[in-house]
Amino acid sequence: MGFNVAIDGPAGAGKSTIAKLVAKEMNFIYVDTGAMYRAIALHLLRKGVQITDTDRFAIDCQDADVTIRYEDGVQQVLLNDENVSGMIRTEEVGNMASASSVDGTVRAKLLDLQRNLAKEKDVVMDGRDIGTNILPNADVKVYLTATVEERANRRFKELSEKGVACDLEKIKADIKERDERDMNREIAPLKQAEDAVYIDSSDMSIEEVKNAICALIHK
Ligand code: C5P
Repeated sequence: MGFNVAIDGPAGAGKSTIAKLVAKEMNFIYVDTGAMYRAIALHLLRKGVQITDTDRFAIDCQDADVTIRYEDGVQQVLLNDENVSGMIRTEEVGNMASASSVDGTVRAKLLDLQRNLAKEKDVVMDGRDIGTNILPNADVKVYLTATVEERANRRFKELSEKGVACDLEKIKADIKERDERDMNREIAPLKQAEDAVYIDSSDMSIEEVKNAICALIHK
């Protein structure tokens, strides 16, 4: 059994940035479960499924085989053997991932993949239901959050730096919508596990958050 660190929290809380740094410092593997949901979302979009076609999610995800591999320590997501890592970071895919991850069939598809990775290796795994559902016995659990304003500002900055035209109010509205969906879905909703350490990163630097989490890990 590997040493398991679970980091859950809402969209834009900085989970992936922090989880990557913690994994590097501890020499663990970083597992980005959101990327797996995004790969399924891409598959659905390619099949012409719309965000409102909720009854198609379960059927149209059947022929999506999601696996991951590591290249120079960086997670790559494969969708039916195609490396789609460079195609899943758009807002369109993110919104579809948020909508389709509500579906029980979609979630069930990824459960074993996530649990098996944690069984075999020391991992820092981030997502929405890692501490509550995927790895209930994780050695360290963190619930990482920040205010909606701060999360929207960070996302706006990130997109602007990439040269992507974006609107702060629209980003804020999208984040609120995702929070609402992630926290209120029936299956594995986003919530803080009882034994998770709560960290609000709104007024913390990346370094401070990383150090706070590393200090919890006693391997
Ligand atoms: O974290 P990221 O934004 O890449 O995740 C995309 C979407 O996948 C999230 O909005 C969330 O709805 C869903 N997700 C999930 N459970 C996870 C990881 C992501 O439901 N463990």
